[in-house]
This record gives sequence, C-alpha cells and structure tokens, in this order.
Amino acid sequence: MSEDNIEQQIDDILEALRETSGKEVSRDELEKELKKFLEYGVPPDHAKQTLVKKFGGGYNQPLSSERILVVDLKPDQQSVHVLCRIISVNPREIQVKGEARRIFYGILGDESGTIQFTAWKDFELEKGTVVDISNAYTKEWQGSVKVNFGDRTKIKKMDASEVHEVNVVPREYKVKELRGGLSSVEVTARILEVKDREVEISGQKKKVFSGMLGDETGKAQFTAWYDFKLKEGAVVKISGGYVKAWKGIPQVTFDEKATVEKLDANMISKKDVKTQKIMLFELVDRNGALDVEVEGTVIEIRKGSGLVQRCPECNRVLQDGACAVHGAVEGKADVRMKLVIDDGTGAVSAILGKEVTEKLLGKTINDSLIDDGLVEEMNSMLFGHRISLQGNALGDQFGVTLIVRDAKRADFNITAEAERLSQELEELL
Ligand SMILES: [Zn+2]
Repeated sequence: MSEDNIEQQIDDILEALRETSGKEVSRDELEKELKKFLEYGVPPDHAKQTLVKKFGGGYNQPLSSERILVVDLKPDQQSVHVLCRIISVNPREIQVKGEARRIFYGILGDESGTIQFTAWKDFELEKGTVVDISNAYTKEWQGSVKVNFGDRTKIKKMDASEVHEVNVVPREYKVKELRGGLSSVEVTARILEVKDREVEISGQKKKVFSGMLGDETGKAQFTAWYDFKLKEGAVVKISGGYVKAWKGIPQVTFDEKATVEKLDANMISKKDVKTQKIMLFELVDRNGALDVEVEGTVIEIRKGSGLVQRCPECNRVLQDGACAVHGAVEGKADVRMKLVIDDGTGAVSAILGKEVTEKLLGKTINDSLIDDGLVEEMNSMLFGHRISLQGNALGDQFGVTLIVRDAKRADFNITAEAERLSQELEELL
C-alpha cells in the first residue's frame, strides 16, 4: 500500500473517531498501528474498523445524524439529533433498584413545536438556553412521544440565535395527520357529534364538551374544556389545541386559550366526512384510528372464537366461569369471532360480535344450539377469503385490534354466483 493510501486511511479513521467519540488520537500513533495490521495482511477496511473501535469510536453507527424537527419525532427513534431551546427543566428524585437517583424532566421546543423530555443524568440543562442534542432517543408514553437523554447523549450549548423562537403559531393539520403529543395544532373540521358532561376538578364543577370531528381525511375525538357553543354539523377552525391519544385514537384537546372560528358549514359537507378506506400498513403505522375501513385476507380464526359466556353485570367475557371484576357469575351466552387479516402490506387482529359474525357466515346462530361445529364453520367459510371490515382500530404494544362494526365478504365470486343462478333457473324451466 502506498504512503498516499495510508494517509487517506488515517484520515478516514480520524474522521470516524471525531464523529463518533469526539476523541483525538495522534496521526503517528494511528499510522504505527495501521501499518502493523497491514503488515500482518489484515484487509485495510477491516483494519480501519478495528482501529476505530479500539480508540473508542463506533464505525458502523455514526453517532451524529441529521437534525430532526420536534414535530417529526416518532416513537422508538435512535440517534435523534435536535437543535432546540429548553423551555422548562425540573429535577426529580426517583428510586432505581433501591438507589436514589436524580433525573430531570421538562419541555424543549424548536420552530416546529414542543415535546417533553427526560434526562437520566445531570446535563446541567438551564431554562431558556439553546442546545444541540445528539444521540437522544424517543419512546412512547401514555400515547405521546417523549425524548430521552441517556449515557450516549451529547448536549452542546449553542448561541441563543441558533434557534428561532419556539413555535407558538399553530401549525395546520389534516385530521389523519393528528398524533398524540402534538401541540399548537390548527385543524379545520366538521363537528360530527358533541355531548357535554360535568366533571369535578379540585372541588370545582366544570362542564366539558366532547365528541367526534372529521374532515375529508378522517375522524378524531375531541374534548373542549370551555364552552365554544359547538354544535353538531358546524364547521370550525380550532387553533391552539393539542393532541392526546388513547390506544392510537387521536383526541384534539383545547381550552379557553384556543380560538375557535366558525366557518361556512358547506366547507366540509356531511358526505365529505366518510369512513376512510386505508391499507393495513398505514393502520399499523398509525397504531390505531377512529372509524376506518380495511380489506384483507383472513389468515387465522383465533382461539376464543365461537361461543363465549359474558358477565351479566359488565359484559366481560368470563374465564372459567368467573368475571375478572365480579367473580363467579351465571354467564349469558354470546358469540364472537377473533380474526387476523392481512392485505399483503400488514396484518391486524379484528373482533367481531354476534351480529357481524352472522352476517359473514350468512346465517342466524341459535345460542342454545352452539357446538364446536361453529368454529369449524368459521374456518371453512372464511379462512383464506377476503373480507372488508369497518370499525375503530385500537393500538397498543401488541399491535392493532379492529373493533368491527360492519363487515362484508370482498371476494364474492360473481361468475360462480351467475352459474348457480342459471342452474337454478334451468331446473325451474
Ligand atoms: Zn363483570
């Protein structure tokens, strides 16, 4: 290997070390080491990687990555790089394996929005300062994305002018883009349902208004902590709300600090807000959605399908004759079906009640005549067939489950049906 080549190799190693460990190693030292490896016939690439590792760097996983805006953060991201302002920071004592440990939590923000963070050690963060944070990671907690700073995280104090003022101007979203954790949200939607109820907060009675809203991209839930005189059928522009999520279903939440502007009701007509048909990968990616339609092939009739006994008090399915809440009770018979459907892009579970099951099987099920044959029938009628399902999709760490409201077979064979009809007709003639 020529001297030039060796110089190039050393440059590469130094760069990898700078990026991944921040360590400075002298050229001479590296050159000596590298030459030794090469003399022993170690391939140059392998030698480079070994040396980067030896001096504390990580060759295959560069620690610095491109800056990401707070609004684009998703759960379970690694090597997260943000440039932001610390809006608030508070210490907290926690117990880890019996030992007291001081962690810090707070809110950070950039020009796109704000997000909560947890620092698992003292990074000497100060309120109001601008910092460049690399190698953080994200997690989902109670439906919102949170940023974490751990051992690998590097935090560099920056000039205050590096970050534009934290965004307080609401950003516009379509309903299908709403995700738990978003703040300063602006959304224009039609109120599909609204109900009020009274709640007590620190001894004070307060009215809250909740329901469903939607636009041409989807539906979501909402909660208003102030009486904006929302009426069913009205089209409103809500500015300054935030989004919480329950099992993947977004909920727009807003109070008196938000503004609600009433728009022409024709802007989003009733028929514009319909059940959205979505691919399963998108449903899996969103990890839940309100009122959607999906289509897929039945790849499994799951255990727990068929006859079940329900608690007469709370409707829970009994396990060994007992309700998880009410103990041993006299169950009432019911039928349900648990399916897994797959459309080639993803798979979800689905739970179907008696009525929808009967619709798919094309027959009425008499509770008193149920035997094991019912599950066999589900298998022979549905396994491998394409069906279309509508309902609410709830997501958790185990995946997405569709609570089915309506279902139909999607692979109804028109040719076979035409043949059957003409045969029937011939027999009649
Ligand atoms: Zn019960």
